[in-house]
Amino acid sequence: MYTATIDAPIEYLKGVGPMRADLLKKELGIYTYAQLLHYYPFRYIDRTRFYKIAELQPELPLVQIVGRITGKELIGEKHKKRIVAKFTDDSGTIELVWFQSLKWVDEHVERGKVYIAFGKPNVFNGQFSISHPELETYPRPQTLAGNLTLQPIYNSTEKLKKRFLDSKGIQQLQRIVLEQHLREIPENMPAYILEKYRLMSKRDAMLNIHFPGSASALQLAQRRLKFEELFFLQLQLLNSKKLRSLKFKGALFNTVGHNVNTFYKEILPFELTNAQKRVIKEVRLDTQRGVQMNRLVQGDVGSGKTVVALMSMLLANDNGYQACMMAPTEILARQHYESLTGLLGDKLVKVAILTGSTPKKQRSKLHEALESGEIQILVGTHALIEDKVQFQNLGLVVIDEQHRFGVEQRAKLWRKNQIPPHILVMTATPIPRTLAMTLYGDLDVSVIDELPKGRKPIVTRHLYEGQRLRMFGFMREEIQKGRQVYVVYPLIKESEKLDLLHLEAGIEQLRYQFPLPNYQISIVHGQMKNADKNFEMQKFVEGKSQIMVATTVIEVGVNVPNASIMIIENAERFGLSQLHQLRGRVGRGAEQSFCILMSGNKLSKEGKVRLETMVKTNNGFEISEIDLQLRGPGDIQGTQQSGVLDLKLADLAQDQVILAEARSTIIELFDEDPMLDHPKNSLLKSYLNKKNQGITFDKIS
Ligand code: ADP
Ligand code: MG
Repeated sequence: MYTATIDAPIEYLKGVGPMRADLLKKELGIYTYAQLLHYYPFRYIDRTRFYKIAELQPELPLVQIVGRITGKELIGEKHKKRIVAKFTDDSGTIELVWFQSLKWVDEHVERGKVYIAFGKPNVFNGQFSISHPELETYPRPQTLAGNLTLQPIYNSTEKLKKRFLDSKGIQQLQRIVLEQHLREIPENMPAYILEKYRLMSKRDAMLNIHFPGSASALQLAQRRLKFEELFFLQLQLLNSKKLRSLKFKGALFNTVGHNVNTFYKEILPFELTNAQKRVIKEVRLDTQRGVQMNRLVQGDVGSGKTVVALMSMLLANDNGYQACMMAPTEILARQHYESLTGLLGDKLVKVAILTGSTPKKQRSKLHEALESGEIQILVGTHALIEDKVQFQNLGLVVIDEQHRFGVEQRAKLWRKNQIPPHILVMTATPIPRTLAMTLYGDLDVSVIDELPKGRKPIVTRHLYEGQRLRMFGFMREEIQKGRQVYVVYPLIKESEKLDLLHLEAGIEQLRYQFPLPNYQISIVHGQMKNADKNFEMQKFVEGKSQIMVATTVIEVGVNVPNASIMIIENAERFGLSQLHQLRGRVGRGAEQSFCILMSGNKLSKEGKVRLETMVKTNNGFEISEIDLQLRGPGDIQGTQQSGVLDLKLADLAQDQVILAEARSTIIELFDEDPMLDHPKNSLLKSYLNKKNQGITFDKIS
């Protein structure tokens, strides 16, 4: 006879069979007993609280009542047929009603007997009733884990419910697996770690997550399982980081030479902030270890990432290597090129630009100059990745706004040199620390968490539609002072047609308020041709137009220091980090800058929190934390392809402490035992072997 084990196919479980097994696979991805056990309840109902019938209120959620069946009758005809029972305690009587399974109810629900009824009370004509209550005999018999006080609730689906696999049905299956196989559940965490963090054993955790012995046992079970989840995710991330550093040598930038020194002493027009100095030092250390650097620099807009990038590139040049800098759009590449050449002049190194619109003739010259090493810094777009572009000796790649580059593209860059170039990724989208640890867990992360001195914080105001004339008045005043204004409209795929109508109406209104010839308006939106967009942008950049009406295309990177007013229409429709990005377009010059958030009069609670947060703080890291609390990690940029969303129990917004513990444990453990050869780490070693994280060149992200 076949004896099922914990990894047996789910159809072998008593009460499952082929039909239900099929559904469990299709609907929930459950193929084995073990997978079933890892399908956790999403909440629990407190079954210690009993209500009296006299206490019932229409708005109460699920309640349980102890009472006696004092009457029971079958009424109605055909599809209206139902059983109605009188259920009585010492404070009153309600009705229990069944429309289905009438035969079963008729045979099993006994008149005169005492039950616990559980369900949602409904009220009709002043009379309370519960349809399809759960009934248990009273007093409760001992259950699997003592008395069940917290009832687990599982997510189910319509198809599963039709096969009686509602929450209760799933709970029943969990009970069967646990009764038969509890002792086969293997421990998967090393004992010394369990001890250090006082974690429950896997077995106890599994039992208590499904059948909590008490509220505190449930908490311990949740902590253990969350820890485990985050621990193994970090183990994989840090393991690939380790493997990469073992496998790939990195160019050595040992010398701080002429370029860096001259730039720092003679050219740099300002004092670096401490944060900038710190990050540059981190890059210095990374590039002297003989290991490929993979560093992410997070810094709010305006925190001065460009200089950090430039000094890193000059460092590469000082050591005989070329460097390149990639931007996600042509406009941004051009801006970088201009600000780099603006800073460097024609002193020091040769800087060139390559984008999709570089003419063919110029392009082949450029290719030659790159291969001969004449060009030391190349700025550009995706065009840099093309195979035709060959360097003499590429030592450093700076990627600006990395969310838009895929893994494949990064891998291509790696192949541009025999030793893969160092990678420095710059992002102006601060993300919470916990998310960074997970999303970029295999990178080193630097933060520039300080703005250059003397910046005036942007003043942010929230105005309602009724205050629009005030807003126009303010715009007029500022334009008369010589400033420029952005007006941004939402344009979202799902409501594109309506949004475009709003945009057009908004433009018409602006034209009326700000007529020609005194006022010029540039218009840029995603549906325009690139050439037209560039033309309109350029007009604004050169100060030929005072107002730039745009959809979110201006979100990233554009730098017009004279533009000091940002008006965001329908601000309630933008996410927090997007609002913050948009606001970052102003506050780049010497003038006081303003951000005005326009919204309708009716706001959702969350919308209100978002706008209030914007008014309250300019700090991108603080904003990203609030964003994570509001929306969860699923909606935060960059999470979609990562493992973050596969977390079953852990929540990156709530479980920051556990995550930090798990990560530091692994860092320590790799320090002490990099190859996991010590017997105490053997479980981890076999986990990684099984995961087959054997790293290949293309897999690296
Ligand atoms: P971002 O981090 O958004 O890319 P930038 O590198 O474009 O920021 O810098 C924004 C502006 O601040 C630029 O005009 C730059 O010259 C200036 N800047 C950068 N660092 C400093 C500093 N330490 N002191 C003063 N101004 C600085
Ligand atoms: Mg920048």
